[in-house]
Amino acid sequence: MLKKKVVLNFPPHLIDQPVTYKLIQDYGVVVNILRARITPREWGSMVVELGGSPKKLEAAMGFLGELGVGVEPLAREVRWHEERCIHCTACLAPCPTHALGVDRASMTVSFDQERCIACELCLRVCPYLAIEILFD
Ligand code: SF4
Ligand code: SF4
Repeated sequence: MLKKKVVLNFPPHLIDQPVTYKLIQDYGVVVNILRARITPREWGSMVVELGGSPKKLEAAMGFLGELGVGVEPLAREVRWHEERCIHCTACLAPCPTHALGVDRASMTVSFDQERCIACELCLRVCPYLAIEILFD
């Protein structure tokens, strides 16, 4: 199964439409919502991971485009510099997806790129600049 992390931008008139439901039911795509900011009568945005065959994903993208939902690839990537990290664990609490975790026995921090949604919350708390955001 192919997986894609994308940002979906919803114009105000589509906020209350069952778009993710249709992606799942009509296009057979697995939708994992990683982050959402939806306000009535305003533009909304969601960071989602879409999973499915290339054909299904292509059809789903076509559906979103025709509907008027903006689709952008998640252009940011977070890099964790293990050599700079002193394993202070300050970054664990703000991380909403547990991409940053700690082994309780050894008290060593680790980073799981697959779980990271590039929300940048950890960047603000790391005193050693061990976490960096990269732009495409
Ligand atoms: S950017 Fe940092 S806080 Fe946000 S998900 Fe990734 S590791 Fe966690
Ligand atoms: S805040 Fe920085 S130094 Fe502390 S554990 Fe996280 S990455 Fe390592």
